Amino acid sequence: MLVNFADILKDAEKGNYAVGGFNTPTLETLKAVIDAAQEMNSPVMINHAEGDQCVVDIDVIGPLMIEYAKKATVPVAVHVDHGLTDDFVLRAVRAGFTSIMYDMSAYDFETNVEKTSKFVKIAHSMGVSVEAMINEMPANMPGKGMTIGWNTERTDDIPLSEFFTRPGEAGEFCERTGVDALTVSFGTVHGKYVAKPVLDIQRLTEIKAKTPNTSLVMHGGSGVDANQVRDAISHGVKKINYYTAMTTAPAPEILKTIEGSKDPIYFENIAQMGYEIMKEKCMEAIKVFLNKD
Ligand SMILES: [Zn+2]
Repeated sequence: MLVNFADILKDAEKGNYAVGGFNTPTLETLKAVIDAAQEMNSPVMINHAEGDQCVVDIDVIGPLMIEYAKKATVPVAVHVDHGLTDDFVLRAVRAGFTSIMYDMSAYDFETNVEKTSKFVKIAHSMGVSVEAMINEMPANMPGKGMTIGWNTERTDDIPLSEFFTRPGEAGEFCERTGVDALTVSFGTVHGKYVAKPVLDIQRLTEIKAKTPNTSLVMHGGSGVDANQVRDAISHGVKKINYYTAMTTAPAPEILKTIEGSKDPIYFENIAQMGYEIMKEKCMEAIKVFLNKD
């Protein structure tokens, strides 16, 4: 069933688990995530990022995402991940998305507060929830061609901790903007990890103490070991974005199949393989996020 993400997160806060947020820019990914959530009997969030527009337009995949959410046997929020422009996020709202990550993190703190506050008022008046972010989160690890936010400029020598969310700023941001959820940086990065991530749980605890009415979100969930993920959930994280590990999982298996086959391979068989492998990966992730054992 299609739901609002504020409701999903309220339940997650009560039950001390996290809801997975998975990007679904292809039909196979969308089916894999919905089927995994149903099999695990877990609520889920399906995401379309502005950066996914190069794969498929929101006007095309959006109605499919909403249709799959409506038909699902578990609660599903349909969410914009990293919405960077007003044009894109308003298209998503019109398409029926139930929550938006309004990512103004490339701006300075005051501008981010100002833009996000305005957007929260509009979104809430339409029953749409809002996630935001302060401080840009790097992609990949420092010293290995790290990029900051969506810039491609290399900043190799900056320690990752320089980008960690400051608890006081997080508290002030949530109070002034009224966002439903805040992405926090305390040790994860976007994309593929080249070094083992170490989460700063002490910092997360301090952030949570300053943001009692806001759900905390961890991006870059791929590659963080299960114990650290569970620790993060128990100390405040209630939504985890997870994509890279899932979308890169099928390729090695597909390659083996292609190399081992003498006959022509139908594309739909490759697509089906992708679906099955991604569903497995997604179920593994959801199992950890449910934080039960
Ligand atoms: Zn992200």
